[in-house]
Amino acid sequence: MDETKRNKQEALDKRYIRMASIWAENSYCQRRQVGALIVKDKMIISDGYNGTPSGFENVCEDENNLTKPYVLHAEANAITKIARSNNSSNGATMYVTASPCIECAKLIIQAGIKRVVYSEKYRLEDGIELLKRAGIEVIYMSIES
Ligand SMILES: [Zn+2]
Repeated sequence: MDETKRNKQEALDKRYIRMASIWAENSYCQRRQVGALIVKDKMIISDGYNGTPSGFENVCEDENNLTKPYVLHAEANAITKIARSNNSSNGATMYVTASPCIECAKLIIQAGIKRVVYSEKYRLEDGIELLKRAGIEVIYMSIES
């Protein structure tokens, strides 16, 4: 990729990761709000934020303020939304405001996503490592800069 192309891609990546962070505000989870977008051919084909499955109460935490085990991560919500549509995530880019966990990394790999741009580092890097092992391009990008 030449310099101009790379700069353009970086500018686009920055805008999409910012959009993902705005999308995260939809999450009704108290402890943490995460947003994800899936982009293919410069089109947003899916979106997601962390939350309970459709039809469940919009509360993520139990009475002890622990995240309920059936809360879906933003990445899982974005990927499963595609499963209900006529779209395909094959070859797409995922923008996610937090470092993907290992469970989501597995889904990202199987969904055929080829690039992941994320903005918040996490102490555990096993998800990121798995994505890299699968040959997925992983890019860290802060939202602020
Ligand atoms: Zn996850």
